[in-house]
Order: sequence, then C-alpha cells, then structure tokens
Amino acid sequence: MLDVLRSVIQEVNRAGDLNSVLNIIVERVKETMETDVCSVYLVDERDQRLVFMATRGFNQEAVGKVSLGPKEGLVGYVAERAEPLNLEDAQNHPRNILFAEIDEEPFHAFLGVPIIHHRKNLGVLVVQVKESRRFEDEEEAFLITLSAQLAGVIAHAEATGSLLLSDDHRPQARTFKGMQGAPGVASGTAIVSVPEAELHNVPYRRTNDIEGEIELFKAAIRATQQDISDIAKRLEDRLQPEELALFEAYLHMLDDTAISGEVISRIHEGEWAPSALKQVIGKHVANFEEMDDAYLRERGADVRDLGNRVLSNLQSKDTRPQHYPPGTILVSQELTPADLARVPRDRLAGFISIKGSGKSHVAILAEAMGVPTVMGVEDLPIELLDEKPLIIDGFEGVVITYPSEEQEQYYTRIAAEEAALVEGLEVTGDQPCHTIDGHRVRLWVNTGLMTDVARSLDRGAEGVGLYRTEVHFMMNNRFPTEEEQRVIYREHLQAFAPRPVTMRTLDIGGDKALSYFPISEANPFLGWRGIRVTLDHPEIFLAQVRAMIRANEGIDTELRIMLPMVSSTAEIDEAQRLIAQCYREIVEEGAQVEMPDVGVMIEVPAAVYQAKDIIKRVDFLSVGSNDLIQYMLAVDRNNAQVAELYQEFHPAVLHALNHVVKAAHAERKGIGICGEMAGNPSAAVLLMAMGFDVLSMTSTSLLMVKHALSHFEFSYARQMLKKVLDMDNAYLIKNYVDEEMRKAGLGNIVRSRRYS
Ligand code: PEP
Ligand code: MG
Repeated sequence: MLDVLRSVIQEVNRAGDLNSVLNIIVERVKETMETDVCSVYLVDERDQRLVFMATRGFNQEAVGKVSLGPKEGLVGYVAERAEPLNLEDAQNHPRNILFAEIDEEPFHAFLGVPIIHHRKNLGVLVVQVKESRRFEDEEEAFLITLSAQLAGVIAHAEATGSLLLSDDHRPQARTFKGMQGAPGVASGTAIVSVPEAELHNVPYRRTNDIEGEIELFKAAIRATQQDISDIAKRLEDRLQPEELALFEAYLHMLDDTAISGEVISRIHEGEWAPSALKQVIGKHVANFEEMDDAYLRERGADVRDLGNRVLSNLQSKDTRPQHYPPGTILVSQELTPADLARVPRDRLAGFISIKGSGKSHVAILAEAMGVPTVMGVEDLPIELLDEKPLIIDGFEGVVITYPSEEQEQYYTRIAAEEAALVEGLEVTGDQPCHTIDGHRVRLWVNTGLMTDVARSLDRGAEGVGLYRTEVHFMMNNRFPTEEEQRVIYREHLQAFAPRPVTMRTLDIGGDKALSYFPISEANPFLGWRGIRVTLDHPEIFLAQVRAMIRANEGIDTELRIMLPMVSSTAEIDEAQRLIAQCYREIVEEGAQVEMPDVGVMIEVPAAVYQAKDIIKRVDFLSVGSNDLIQYMLAVDRNNAQVAELYQEFHPAVLHALNHVVKAAHAERKGIGICGEMAGNPSAAVLLMAMGFDVLSMTSTSLLMVKHALSHFEFSYARQMLKKVLDMDNAYLIKNYVDEEMRKAGLGNIVRSRRYS
C-alpha cells in the first residue's frame, strides 16, 4: 500500500496544473482500488458549491458543468460532516440523489472522503461500485491517507492555476492567508529571491537576452564539468572503478545530447536559464525516482545534486545586477537577515516569507525596519510569483495577487489611516513616559540593524534594552574579529550616549543560523542555542565581551551585558568568570574602563522558577517573552501551523511574568522585558502594572505604547491586573484588556489593525 501511495503522490506532484492533478488521482485510485467509478468534487469558493471536477467511470462531458449545493446529495453530506462515509448501498440513504447529467446509474457501494487542507474543506473524493458491498477498512484507510496527503497538492495546484494568465484576460484577484509579520500595507511588484544553489526554489522567469543566457549557461556547464573531473581525480585511488564510472556518467549527462541540449532548447523558447535547468533536472530526477530498482531510484538524488552544482556556477558567473522596480515586494521561501538588506530602501515596499511566523527573528527585524511583512503564506505558489502585481497586508497577514481596483483603493485608504495615526503620535516622541497619575515608565528600544539607531533616537528612546549582536554576525561570511566588533559596538554606544545600552552576547541557534558555522539538529529550539554555544566556545565569547568592554572606553554610556537562553545558575557563574577575566585583562592592558552591569534573560521556564537564585548573582533581569512563551506553551515560535496557540495573554504566561518581577524586586534589583509583548499597548498596560521597570520594544511600536501608557492610570492598571490574574482564558483576558483600553479613549490604537 505504501508503495502505491508513494507512486501516486510522486506522479501527482509532477503534474503541475490542477486538471492533470485531478485526472491522475481519479485514474490511479480507480485502478488501484478496482472500483467502477472514482470522482473528485471541489468547492467553488464563490458560492460554496461542490463542482464535479474529474472522473473515471462517469460522463466526462459533465466535468466542470455539474455541481451540487453544499448540503446536496451524499457528496454534500461528506463535505458537511467533514467525515468519511462508507455505505454498502447508497440507494437506501435518504441523502442520495441521482444526477442524470453525469450518467449516474444506480451504483450501490459508496465511499466518500473529505479533502481537507489547513482545516478548510477543499472538496470530496469518491469511489463507487455497482454491486452492494461494504468497502473494507483497509480501503477506507487508503482513501483517507491519500486524500490527506493530496490536499496540499490540490491546494497548491488550485493556487497556481489562479496565477496563470490566459490569452484573453488577466487572472482574478486571489487572497492567500499567512500571518502578521510586520505591520503596514503595501502595493507593489513581487521579486522572488533565489537562494544560492537551491534549484527547487528557482522561480519561472522570461528572458529577452537569449544569446547571453545561453552563453552563461554553457560557461556554467563547463565549470561544473571541470569540478566533477577534479573531484574524480582527487578520489581516483580511493574509489572502485565502478564508482569512478559514475563520474563519467555525470559528465555525459551534462553534455549537449542530454541535459545541456534540453536546457538550451528551452532557453531558445525564451525561458531564463535557471528555470529551464530546473525543469529539465526535475524531469530527469522523476525518471530515476520512478524506477523499481532502489539503487537506481537513489541516483535521482545525484542528478538533483548535479543540477544544484550547475545552478551554483550559473549564479556565480552571472554578474548582472538584479533589477528591483519601485515598490518591490521581496518574496522568499525563508526570509533571512541578508534578504532584508538586498533591496535598496527607496525601492522596497514589503517582504513575504513562505515559511516562518510573526515571532520569527527575521519578522522582528523587518518590523524594526518598518517594512510591511507577511509570514507563513504556505500556499503561495512562489515559483510563479516573479514580477506579478501584489498587495500585502502585514496587519492581517494577507497577500493578494492581481488585486482588483477596489482592493487597491481600499488598501490605499488603510495606508493613509495608519500614517495619520502614527503622525498624530509623533509629538509625544521626546517626552518621558508618565501615566495620568504620574507613574514613570521607562521605554527602551531593541536594536540590531544600524538603521534602528536613527529611528530609535527620532522616536525618543531612553535606552537600549536589547541589542541583538547576532544580526551583525549573521550578515557576515565569517566570525567578525574582536576589533571589527569593537568598532561596531562603539558606534552603537556613541549613538545612544549617555543612555544605557544593553548588549546581548551572541544568541545563535534555533532559527538564527550562521552560514559559516552550521548547526544541524533535529530540534534546534531545544538544542545548542545562545549561552550554550558561547560557553562551549569561550574563544568566541571572550572576544565578544572584550570588544564590548573596550568599545565603551571613554564614552559616557552605561554598558550592560546580557546573557541569553540561561537555564541554570552554573551557566551564569561560568559566564561571569569569563566576563571578569575579560575586564581584568583589559584593565591590565592599561585601558580606562568600567566593569559593566551583567544581567540574565528569563527565556525558559526553569529560569522563571529560579529567578530568585538568578537575580542574587546578577545586576538585572530581562524577560525574553518571545522565547519564554514558546517554551511555556510548547509552541514553536517559527511554525505557522501552530501560531494561533502562541498567546501573550495566556494565564500561565502572565503568572510567570508577575512571579519574576516580584523575585527581582525582592532583591531590590531592576527588571525589564524585551520580547515583542512589550510593544503591544494592551499587554504593556499589564506589564506596567506588574511593575516592570523597563519595557523594551522595536522603535516601530514605541510611540504607540507611549501614547497608550500616558493616557492610562497606573492605579487602574493595577486593578485590572488583579482581575486578570484570576482569569483562566487567554481570549477573555485579551478582550477584557482591549475593552478597558477603549474605555480609556484608546479605541484608535486597539482598533488599529496593528494589534488585531
Ligand atoms: C525573546 O526571546 O523574547 C528575545 C527578546 O530574544 P529573541 O527574540 O532575539 O530570541
Ligand atoms: Mg530569545
């Protein structure tokens, strides 16, 4: 059974357009299950009717013409209940109806299963047999498994179809749901970012320079042939002759009679070399993967590797600059910090990342840049998106392809309303933040990119609560030296002087990867992250801490060093020993420096419960709520699939935060929070009430939070907190706080789509 499933799914995956996908499904299912009929009905989004889309066994002429109401017939019944229906004799079922148009004779046995993708019912897959018999459990299980696996492919094929231009008209507007990345809306043109040497992510593109493209491709082939010959030579005395023969075979595959010839003929038809290569390699890989022999099947992976090598050479030889039109919306399979800097700022309108979620680090950076971003739009057919018109809505996490004129107008209005809201707040920029009843709240910023500095200072930041030093490491292609780091940190410290600046030691791992220091783990968020990495590599830690302390020489700034991802007191003791060593050495070298304050981030539940022991060892605490929430609620912050479960107002989270504030204050030490939660005005009211001394957020959120807190009474926020701590449901808490904000005259902020 598994073999059949695998081969049907492979065949379907290669099919491309929706009709071919559905026809393969009905053909293969009918044949495999030996039924008289197999049909697929798909839901038409416009009227929710179930359209007869493909069949084997019924009248082909009726395909696309016949449809059922959502509650009509047995097919409607399957869709309505979202459950399989296995009937020995469908004729006896009260919901059965006959359709003359599809030649439905009285078939007796009926098995229908829903096709569900991301909780959405896409349609129904049905098999029928003339005689009366009950489908076996095995058969039912097969159809359910197949339908579950095919749902994603069908959704993708549907979406792809909606992006294809037909001869006579522009495609209909289509909306794809992802999630909030960074607030703001934008209208523009998609430019797909092609990651290095990843053939499967290459988008389809046309070229006007056919000769140039062919020349480039031929040069890439020659370079790849050279690479292969070099490798074969190096391995000559270590490999068996039959293994060496494989290299010969690969060289042959690249010559004009095989892959090269096919790619060149596609380029002649006007296709860009990378996507021509992708198509040809895809076909050859599929040929191998269909083979019965397991050894030959695995050769498919070699061909894929070969294709990636050619692509890599193609990319390195192509020195033509990428054109970014005004209003570029950069689309990436998985947005990286390097992508954020790819497009000139005056051309950049937005970002889309197919993977990831609103709490992914890259989304936080995009928000800091003030660029509308949508994350986790998994159904978006990226390969067809290049140069297509788009609207993105970073508040709602929505992408619209080929937007209609009405949609353009609607979003232009939203953008104007948002701009007016933010403009109205600018005036409060340089005042310190006090509540109506005089309670002082310190609002600091999180930084990482150099562009954050000017934005933060413009908006009246009183300090830096989190400088994500890893961003600089991620943009590099090797570890920066101590001196290189010192220069950058000094620039940062000088820019903010005399305000306090909290520099976090290198926090890599999880979703923060360094290309030159790969960490490969099955479970990276529970793996080698943050302080765990740097304590295992004291040479990296020491160089960084030395750079921080030296950077502050002669500047009137309060430098604070902060340790990420701490889960035990032993880690703190070890880190402090190393920090003290750095300080001693620098003083011995003759520099006039101060010993910085040292603090710890509370990001894992263990640190919450040991807050008392931790605070005794250090000068301050800062809650990293982005990670703390993911670890407390067991919700991967990077996974779009579970993003709904990531709840800042979860009672367990609020109790944990309240507990750590008390622990820090019991020792008369300061405590801040630097996760995204601090930048949400409704959450900020509760955090202030808990007693956080510092709320640190992206500069984008600063004015909104300042406005909210300075229109609120601290004493009332305390009463609200008391109530909230007795509540047991995140949704109720959020609704209650939002309602109180409205009552306080902050409806415009709650209503702002930013915090929906
Ligand atoms: C956090 O986890 O809340 C935090 C501020 O750190 P980061 O988002 O960089 O992991
Ligand atoms: Mg963190």
